[in-house]
Amino acid sequence: MKRAPSIVLVILPGAVFLAVAADWARSVNNSETFILSRAKSVWAIDNFDGEIAFWRGTPLADLPAIKQHWWHEHWEPPYAYKTASFNVVSARESEWALAGFMITMQRRFPTTGKSILPSQLGPRVGVVIPLWFPALIFGAWTYVAARRYVRATRREQEGLCRVCGYDLRATRDRCPECGTPIVATGAT
Ligand SMILES: [Zn+2]
Repeated sequence: MKRAPSIVLVILPGAVFLAVAADWARSVNNSETFILSRAKSVWAIDNFDGEIAFWRGTPLADLPAIKQHWWHEHWEPPYAYKTASFNVVSARESEWALAGFMITMQRRFPTTGKSILPSQLGPRVGVVIPLWFPALIFGAWTYVAARRYVRATRREQEGLCRVCGYDLRATRDRCPECGTPIVATGAT
């Protein structure tokens, strides 16, 4: 049995869409980087100018315990950079980029040298997701869900089944076409 659309299915993707859009707007002039360092690996999430990037780097030597922690860096233009603007530190490694997506093993890790110098890291990989992508997915999802919800609500007001549109004015219990229970709306 198909189920009637719920307003929750509109609000949830809508909230994600708004969060992505807000982060996109904020990221135009704000670079945020969260870095977690461990003895054998360093992780980062980098958010700037419409992109979010996930990084992993491997220290050339075990990092001292004093450098094993997490921290946050905030930069604004002109000291903030997109991943594609970072220095190429190992041109022999591979890089792939398309429409704002990027997988790079060439570029500098997004730390500025506070606690960990980029030169202390050996192999590193960055995966970049352009924010247009989640904005498009969740925007389209919200639009489709909202249309379904509006159509179901309109059918209900017209005395039709919320799910299949069958005329229910001669029916009380369930839709004879698709079996959806009829919710009393106060209308007669
Ligand atoms: Zn029905």
